[in-house]
Amino acid sequence: MLFIIIFNLLALAIGIYSIRHKKIIFPKFVLFMLYLFYSPVKWFFSAFSMNDLLVDEILVEIQNSVYLEKFKAQTERKVILLPQCLRSSDCHARCDPLYGFVCTKCGRCDIGSITKEAEQRDFKVFVVPGSSFVKKIFKEYRPTSCIGVACPVELSESMQKTSVVPSQGVYLINDGCFETKVNVCDVVEKMELVSPVSETADLKIKTVTLYDFIDNENEETGTEIETETENKGGR
Ligand code: SF4
Repeated sequence: MLFIIIFNLLALAIGIYSIRHKKIIFPKFVLFMLYLFYSPVKWFFSAFSMNDLLVDEILVEIQNSVYLEKFKAQTERKVILLPQCLRSSDCHARCDPLYGFVCTKCGRCDIGSITKEAEQRDFKVFVVPGSSFVKKIFKEYRPTSCIGVACPVELSESMQKTSVVPSQGVYLINDGCFETKVNVCDVVEKMELVSPVSETADLKIKTVTLYDFIDNENEETGTEIETETENKGGR
């Protein structure tokens, strides 16, 4: 028991160091320990009033790093899986029983913008109502790589399950399962890893981390927020 606690604390320390310094070290060890003892570690965070989403962010960022090179190597049947909670409450998209909601790019939500960007980069967008649709899409469309958008908890779980294809995860920037938001530029940035489009060079890129995710929650309670924006052309 003592060894398990020590190893988990070590995995957490390495994970926090990795994402803070953007330098991933011992990824397999961290993933193994944190996935194996996911529930106890989350309980530990909750018990000491710490933000347990940090565990999910560590898992997602390390998964992103581990799969990065394989993800970049895939050029066919690339997909983006978006949660249906991103849709506007006025969305009139029909739901296909196999592939989920068919976006008409009406402009009422970010899904339309992401779909337009994806079309330029040969990514196929699926707006999925639930995990059963993900299984159907993987079975029928057989993607070779995947960008997933979800809240940190779902993202860390689904990236473990969909490890059959190299994937990259992007967090939602608000929670609540209704009219959620994602930073479109973060999704575009992931697409650009594989399919750069020069015309988008003037896009403002803002990298969203869990800390922004938390800060956005704090904004509602009056906490000052600092956001960092970068001009993608300067990268
Ligand atoms: S952009 Fe697409 S998903 Fe969003 S409201 Fe319009 S049809 Fe629905």
